[in-house]
Amino acid sequence: IPTEFQEALPILRKIEAAGYEAYFVGGSVRDTLLHRPIHDVDIATSAYPSEVKSLFKRTVDTGIEHGTVMILDHGNGYEVTTFRTESGYQDYRRPDEVNFVRSLKEDLKRRDFTINALAMSESGQITDLFGGLADMDAKIIRAVGDPNERFNEDALRMMRAIRFASQLDFKIEAKTLAGIKCHSQLLAKIAVERTHSEFVKMMMGVDAQNGLNLAIETNLYKYMPELGNWLAQLQTIVNSHFRLTNEPQVWSLLAFYFNFSAEAIRTFLKKWKTANKVINDVILTTELLFRMSSNELSNWDLYRAGRENVENAVTILNAISTSDFSGYVADYDHLPITDKKQLKITGGQLIKDGILQPSPQLGETLSYLEKAVVDAKVANTQPALISATKSFINEDD
Ligand code: ATP
Ligand code: MG
Repeated sequence: IPTEFQEALPILRKIEAAGYEAYFVGGSVRDTLLHRPIHDVDIATSAYPSEVKSLFKRTVDTGIEHGTVMILDHGNGYEVTTFRTESGYQDYRRPDEVNFVRSLKEDLKRRDFTINALAMSESGQITDLFGGLADMDAKIIRAVGDPNERFNEDALRMMRAIRFASQLDFKIEAKTLAGIKCHSQLLAKIAVERTHSEFVKMMMGVDAQNGLNLAIETNLYKYMPELGNWLAQLQTIVNSHFRLTNEPQVWSLLAFYFNFSAEAIRTFLKKWKTANKVINDVILTTELLFRMSSNELSNWDLYRAGRENVENAVTILNAISTSDFSGYVADYDHLPITDKKQLKITGGQLIKDGILQPSPQLGETLSYLEKAVVDAKVANTQPALISATKSFINEDD
């Protein structure tokens, strides 16, 4: 039993000592049984939120309306959620109503897939009401209950299915898969941010080719932002052996195969409600992909992109091609400078020496020097930079 659970045991014990039930549930139980690293430890309990709060000194109402209270303990935070049922789902996403219940069974029933519907007690005993352990052994994603109903209730579950298939290298059980095919259009009802998060996780999975293939096979891709017109390109990507480790890589791979300009990338990623920092990295990484793959890369391209984006581009190209592009990371590390601040001259110095006045020309000169040093046309020493400045000014006149 992993240390994350060990540390949380006193919390389970305290809830139980007060006469309630408490279990580990959800992804952390699944991942422990699969010998995968776990991130957040979720606890489910028969105690109502007010009862949970009365047992612990430090709690935060992180999702009190859904029955979730965060317990702060020795610098860790644990989400403790009251057993609940859900009903309504008028909008194919959020339930209209959650009801707190005292029965673990009711709580496990509302969960999406059998492998996510396992509970583990304080003693390590597993409650498995829907055959989750057998599905885990057989590497199968299977909806709890009737898949059609479950996807009708919450269309995000379809994205979660292909995401888990990709992350865990599992197959989707036939009826569950048929349910997704039948309800794929409901994905359009889901908030883009939530589809986004599942899509990125799916593309970073160990079996992302399978995940993307499932997105195509089920037609889910048609109901994701802006992917509907790119079937041929998506199929090419499915047949490439990509292996991605961060979000900018995910979008850069698509942008590369879609042959997107910087502007097209911006428009596309805005539709996906992507963070601006990510958009900028994607633009830089995609530009590197085009230049590296056509052998047109300059020092200046490497410098402008920054080390992380150089690594992103190399990771992608190494995965999808038979050549080794790793040398570009070494090239980056051998750049004369990697930041403007490393120039051995400053604007202040040029003014003090009476070479230039504070003026727009000063900025232009520094930009010129930066590029000249990066491209190894001028050495990064004070005498070389001063003499380059003087000839630059004279040229200008
Ligand atoms: P991850 O490793 O990405 O955190 P997870 O399975 O823990 O995967 P969470 O979103 O953290 O996913 O949800 C925790 C648990 O809550 C799930 O394991 C599942 O039992 C339940 N759950 C989450 N989302 C849904 C949903 N849309 N429908 C039904 N049950 C869900
Ligand atoms: Mg989780």
